[in-house]
Amino acid sequence: MKALDYLLADVLVVGGGVAGCRAAIEAVEYASSVILVDQGTVGVPHPAAPQGGVYAAAQPTRFDGDTWQTHAADILQAGAGLADPTLVEVLAREALRGAWELDRYGIKWHRAAKGGFEARELPGHQFPRGLHVAVETGHSLKETLASHLRSHVGVRVIEDVYISSLMQHQGRVVGAIGIDRHSGDLLVLVAGSTILASGGLGGLFNFGVGWGSGVAMAYRLGAEVISPELYAPGSLVGRSNDMPYSLGGLRVDASGQTSLAALYAAGEAAGGTFGAGLLPGDALTHAAVSGAIAGRSAALAYRAIPRIKEESVKEERMRQGGLIRRALSAKPGSQPLADFVAQFNQRFQRALGPGCAEDSLDDMRTWLDGLPANWYQQVQFARTTGASQDLTPEARIDLIRMDYLLGMAKVALQAASQRAESRGVFQRSDRPETAPHGTGRFVAKRTQGQEVLTRLLTPETEALAAVDATA
Ligand SMILES: Cc1cc2nc3c(=O)[nH]c(=O)nc-3n(C[C@H](O)[C@H](O)[C@H](O)COP(=O)(O)OP(=O)(O)OC[C@H]3O[C@@H](n4cnc5c(N)ncnc54)[C@H](O)[C@@H]3O)c2cc1C
Repeated sequence: MKALDYLLADVLVVGGGVAGCRAAIEAVEYASSVILVDQGTVGVPHPAAPQGGVYAAAQPTRFDGDTWQTHAADILQAGAGLADPTLVEVLAREALRGAWELDRYGIKWHRAAKGGFEARELPGHQFPRGLHVAVETGHSLKETLASHLRSHVGVRVIEDVYISSLMQHQGRVVGAIGIDRHSGDLLVLVAGSTILASGGLGGLFNFGVGWGSGVAMAYRLGAEVISPELYAPGSLVGRSNDMPYSLGGLRVDASGQTSLAALYAAGEAAGGTFGAGLLPGDALTHAAVSGAIAGRSAALAYRAIPRIKEESVKEERMRQGGLIRRALSAKPGSQPLADFVAQFNQRFQRALGPGCAEDSLDDMRTWLDGLPANWYQQVQFARTTGASQDLTPEARIDLIRMDYLLGMAKVALQAASQRAESRGVFQRSDRPETAPHGTGRFVAKRTQGQEVLTRLLTPETEALAAVDATA
């Protein structure tokens, strides 16, 4: 492992998608130093991204009868009893204000002739709520937010650095450690508050697109992960079907706070809002609204920047060093990483995708249980050339990322096995019926090295259970 570099900030944002950019723009209103770090280039749209994108917001002055409450009712309906009413209320209430804020940052929404936004009908929404960007303007939300972000002097944007772990001191998250994708150097980012806006767990279905490491690294420290078994088909959110939206993620409260002190989450990294279903357009709304909320909360909960914790850095160096040394001693005949990943993704899609059943879940469980803890000795990772043997920085990142994803696969699988019903997007071919009172929502947490899954009844399912008890 090479040189170390240290940087300090009041607020650290991990991830430069819509949620992360929006969080950083908001945080800098209240904090004097904000760092946003991304493993790639901030503002570059996904190659498959549509020119526009649809953002859902109720517009009471344009459509008689539409209000944030009807929007919230539609979201709850799509969530099939598992949506979080508090988080849904915040999202629906803030959606329109969020659209105007994006307008202020330069998003060229299609305007109606008489002012306001032009809105499209979207499946599942009772009223036209689909705000969109003209194809000819050619700017995606991501690009526009990123360029607005770069105009803020208080925000430092760091690109091509993969965050490999969070630092924690006395129960509080105090920043993160990253790997420079080009040099392999470690970067230590010490922060008063940290926001994970690093996307969802889509990498379980398609390693090429989703990262998921952010959720996994917080889980490793003991953060609660909600509904890890729930994924909406990509077609619902404008993606190709093998890139589902992860409805689960880090459990947050209405301020974006996770269950770990000084750690916030936004966008797809934050789970639980939508329950077991998602309406078109609501994913972008959620990314923008939850980003703004987490940015504000993290900055206002300001605490002094902690002292650099050398032991966290030492621990991370040892963890990476151990993984790398063992990966370098790969057995002869080991398979290329791409083959290993393809096999993993296919099994995961079969195990948890639509039509899953006990046997597909068992098959995945057998495969995962059969993987040795040092699975990476069975895989070939790219090595540096020259006298000193090492993995290339990219290979090191792939190794860490895959290790995180395998951990999250076990968590998702455990929750899926417990969901003995079909509900919303979760469709089991062996249990097509929806359990009358539902199985509630699952919350996974690591406590003292043990993985614990608890069941959380939503207010709606609790009410149903109470009605039944009195029948
Ligand atoms: C092709 C496509 C079309 C879509 N169309 C629509 C639509 O029309 N309407 C809609 O509502 N939704 C749509 N969606 C979904 C919506 O865009 C996403 O849900 C939303 O943008 C998620 O934003 P995010 O900021 O949470 O995560 P992401 O956009 O996934 O951003 C996460 C960022 O974090 C970075 N990152 C991840 N891990 C690390 C790490 N360890 N270290 C450093 N950086 C890291 C990644 O590089 C990435 O830049 C679409 C998605 C896609 C892919």
